[in-house]
Amino acid sequence: LAKTYSRGGWFGARAVVKAVHDADFTLRRGETLGLVGESGSGKSTLARCVVDLVRPEAGHMLFHGQDLRPLSRADRKPFRKRIQMVFQDPYASLNPRRRVGDIIAEGPITHGEPRAQALDRARDLLRLVKLDPGAMDRFPHEFSGGQRQRIGIARALAMEPELLIADEPVSALDVSVQAQVLALLAEIRARLGLTMLFITHDLRVAAQVCDRIAVMQRGAIVEIGPTAEVFGNPQHSYTRALLDSIP
Ligand code: ATP
Ligand code: MG
Repeated sequence: LAKTYSRGGWFGARAVVKAVHDADFTLRRGETLGLVGESGSGKSTLARCVVDLVRPEAGHMLFHGQDLRPLSRADRKPFRKRIQMVFQDPYASLNPRRRVGDIIAEGPITHGEPRAQALDRARDLLRLVKLDPGAMDRFPHEFSGGQRQRIGIARALAMEPELLIADEPVSALDVSVQAQVLALLAEIRARLGLTMLFITHDLRVAAQVCDRIAVMQRGAIVEIGPTAEVFGNPQHSYTRALLDSIP
C-alpha cells in the first residue's frame, strides 16, 4: 500500500509527505500483529488505509482474497463493518454530545440493525468491557481515560469485526490503567477469536501482546517476524536501533 499526503505550505507551496510507500504484509487469522516504529513512520496512516479512513493511492489490499482498493465506496461498505479500529486518544474519539449507549449502537443501527436490538447489545458489550450498564445513559466526559477506551472498544466490537485495529490504545493512559486495558484486550481477543493489528511505539507493550512484529521505518515495513525472533535476533539495523533505545 502507498499513501502520499500533500500539505499546503507558505505562499501556496505544497509539501509532499510519503507517509507509506512500501508496506507489504499479511495478517493471519486469529493472530495479533504488532506494528512498531518511531513517531511519523506511517503506522497510523497504514491503519487508516486498512480501516478505510484514508484511501491508498497504490497497491492492493486483499481481504479474504478480494482486492478492496479498486472497489467503490459503496461496494467497500460491507467490508468496512468487518474491520474496526480503536483510536489513540480516548478524549477525542467519542462524540461528546451523544450518550454512551447511542455511541456504541450507532454503527450497527446505520448498518440496518433495529435500534432496540442494537441498544440491548450495547448493554451486553458494556458488561464485556467491564463497565456498569448504567453507563448507557451517561456522556463520555463523565468517564476516565481508561473507561473511555473501554467504551471505544465496545463501540468497535458492536460491529462484530473480524479484524480489530488498535492504534496506540493505551499510550494516552497512565501505567496502571494501561495494564488493565491491555488485559481486557487480551481477554476479548481470546474470547472472540479476533485478529488484531496492534500499533504501538512501546516495544515492551508489543512484546507482551503480539504474536508477530512488523517494524516500520519512514513509510516502509523493514522487518517482520515472530515476536521472539524480531526482538531476540533483529535482522534490520533500524530494529536494533529501536531495541537499543529502550531505557
Ligand atoms: P505516531 O507514532 O506519532 O502516531 P505514526 O507512525 O502513526 O506516528 P503517521 O501519523 O502515519 O505516523 O504519519 C506519517 C507521516 O505522514 C508523518 O510525516 C505525518 O506528518 C504525515 N501525515 C499524517 N497525517 C497527515 C495528514 N492528514 N496530512 C498531511 N500529512 C500527514
Ligand atoms: Mg500514529
